[in-house]
Amino acid sequence: MFEDLKWLIELQKIDNQIYQLTSEERNTENMIERMKHEIEELTLNRVKLIRKQRELSEDRETYSSDILDHKRILDQKQIDLDNDKKTKKEHIKREVKKLEKAVEVFDERVDELTQEVDRIKSEISEIDKNIVKTEKKIKTESRKKTEMGKSSLKELEKLEKKKQKIEKQIRTPFLNHYNRIMRIRNGIAITYVTEDGLCEGCKIHIPYQLQQKVKLQDDYNICEGCGRILVDIKLLNKK
Ligand SMILES: [Zn+2]
Repeated sequence: MFEDLKWLIELQKIDNQIYQLTSEERNTENMIERMKHEIEELTLNRVKLIRKQRELSEDRETYSSDILDHKRILDQKQIDLDNDKKTKKEHIKREVKKLEKAVEVFDERVDELTQEVDRIKSEISEIDKNIVKTEKKIKTESRKKTEMGKSSLKELEKLEKKKQKIEKQIRTPFLNHYNRIMRIRNGIAITYVTEDGLCEGCKIHIPYQLQQKVKLQDDYNICEGCGRILVDIKLLNKK
């Protein structure tokens, strides 16, 4: 059998073990990254809400001072009503009604704005709680990840040593090809032809002639679809 191929298969097995060994750590790392991203989103949203809260509060200030102005004028009108001649009174009364209506509308608006501001306040405090919670979780997961790293380190070192030994057995062009495919094909560089005559890696149909060549186990065959090395399935099952 083709020597390089034999070693490449061994190499893939070691790489699979390394992948397995580090997968929990990798998942935890992904989880931590997701949580960090979550915090970024929350912080961004928080900034927006604070800006909104400030704008609404300023609106409320404006309405409140308008109300005060109107009330001052109303007081003055009341004095006028008491003092002015009868002929003028109807006119003043109309003005008073208008002012009172305005105050009523402004009051309603102030109430609405107050509710809105309160709603935003509680939303912000909810966000703050979430941020604190997520930060705590990140700390816990990071600690776990460090522990995992420590416990798998020895095993990992052993596998790396084995890997180096195997790599020395493989001629450079083949090793380079293997490593390149590992990089671009999610850690699987060696695959087989399925019973239906498809590449297990990319599901492209493998021409019959190539299938026969793969079965002979004595050549380096590459899938045209994904570039993975095609080997007889029996070689992969063998321990
Ligand atoms: Zn393929």
